[in-house]
Amino acid sequence: MKECLFCKIIKGEIPCDKVYEDETVYAFKDINPKAPVHLLVIPKKHYPTLNDLPDEEMEIIAHIHCVMKKLALEFGVAESGYRVLANINKEGGQVVYHVHYHLIGGRQLRA
Ligand code: 5GP
Ligand code: ZN
Repeated sequence: MKECLFCKIIKGEIPCDKVYEDETVYAFKDINPKAPVHLLVIPKKHYPTLNDLPDEEMEIIAHIHCVMKKLALEFGVAESGYRVLANINKEGGQVVYHVHYHLIGGRQLRA
């Protein structure tokens, strides 16, 4: 996965504003934020899309949600509200092919 941008970020080969890291998950600020809080939360293991994540490894998605819940508190949007979303494949608007969740908040979001 030498070409994957997010794998390079995890390895520290590309700088980022890291906000969280543990054994399996990494989180950092989006370089082009759509709101005052815009974080990306990703598994350290490379899967291009959710479609590539085996059912047996799906607990990583629950763990990512635990991390997002903590980060929402830490960044002060847990009560005011925030959005969690994943873009999957071309028509879903995915640009970076490493599974990731956006955590967006800090302003009124519209549909
Ligand atoms: P996608 O459209 O694939 O769901 O979202 C990819 C996200 O990655 C975009 O919101 C984009 O701004 C962000 N992004 C792309 N390149 C970089 C980068 O080099 N660093 C950081 N921190 N975010 C990036
Ligand atoms: Zn990757």
